[in-house]
Amino acid sequence: MTIQSRTAPAPTRTRRGTEIRLQDVTKQYGAHQPAVDAISLTIAPGEFMTLLGPSGSGKTTTLNLIAGFETLTSGAISLNGADVGALPPHRRDLGMLFQSYALFPHMTVAQNVAYPLRERRMPRDVIAEKVAAVLELVQLTGRDDDYPQQLSGGQQQRVALARAIVFDPKALLLDEPLGALDRNLRGALQTEIRRIHREVGSTFVFVTHDQEEAMNLSDRIALFNAGHIEQVGTPEQLYREPETLFTARFLGDSNVFPLEGGVGDGTTGWEGHTWHVDPASVSRHRGVRSRAAVIVRPEDVRLARTPDQIPEGANRAPARVTDVEYMGSYRTAMLAFGSGEARGRARLDAVEATVSPGDDVIACWRPERQRVVAV
Ligand code: ADP
Ligand code: MG
Repeated sequence: MTIQSRTAPAPTRTRRGTEIRLQDVTKQYGAHQPAVDAISLTIAPGEFMTLLGPSGSGKTTTLNLIAGFETLTSGAISLNGADVGALPPHRRDLGMLFQSYALFPHMTVAQNVAYPLRERRMPRDVIAEKVAAVLELVQLTGRDDDYPQQLSGGQQQRVALARAIVFDPKALLLDEPLGALDRNLRGALQTEIRRIHREVGSTFVFVTHDQEEAMNLSDRIALFNAGHIEQVGTPEQLYREPETLFTARFLGDSNVFPLEGGVGDGTTGWEGHTWHVDPASVSRHRGVRSRAAVIVRPEDVRLARTPDQIPEGANRAPARVTDVEYMGSYRTAMLAFGSGEARGRARLDAVEATVSPGDDVIACWRPERQRVVAV
């Protein structure tokens, strides 16, 4: 996973995008648990916002509510301050891209892309100009007269993307658009989508259940859990400063130490060890005072063989190495801590490269690299 530091869109920057605001948005199907339960979220003009979460957590329902394919049970949705809750989809002027390309098979690439413009009764020469420009943007210049079945899956999805943005929609909504593509192609198209977002400058709302994809693409991520939003932030914030164990676990690997008691002032205890706690590392989530866990990312854990190898001021936990995984460019030790309930992993650097399964080690980390989260 690549963690890139990305600044949130500055309000002073000129942006052509649309602000999308959801206020206490709820969708309930029949007598079931609400699919989306009173969520509030403001997406800034020009922002790349990803709705991330496990299957069934309410991402598609939220996107469909924004698009107008579903009606609100309660709450409000506005585009640039104008309430759109009562508008049909075509009046909201939003571009949509789904996992299935949904191209018209009997139309050429150019005819597919021109379709939304012909629907809007634009003059022929304007249509030709816009189609040429957008085909260049998605790097399909020269494929105008091909039919969809003559194109690869990745190319078909580029055509669908071109068709979704050719009419300069207020925003582009994408629901797992890369889900049907193989891993390499996904990576290539992620890079393409980021470039197109930069060039077009409009608001993108992207749905995925793939945390790596969300990390790679997004300005900010809204993490969904069972119909509510668990946390919103930049990829780096969600990875480095999760408020809950759910967030910590959904975005990357962690060493997790469930705490028996609460968090003390400056220290906490785990299986007889006293650990330093940096107050800034304690989640602001209100649940943290009753049920909490300490989490440490694998890259922040060092393994010592003997106590004299532990750096000054480090927190520590004895561990047994249960396995060593080869990850390509680095290796990871799987760890069982203390009495064995807590499990985790440490990324190995060259110095520690000699550890093997069965070794007893001391896992240690700098207190400011740990995080106390609500469970
Ligand atoms: P996601 O996109 O995150 O996988 P969805 O938004 O599709 O999740 O679904 C959220 C919840 O709403 C799920 O429990 C799903 O079964 C339910 N749901 C979605 N659409 C309908 C529908 N048309 N009728 C009844 N339940 C639905
Ligand atoms: Mg979905």
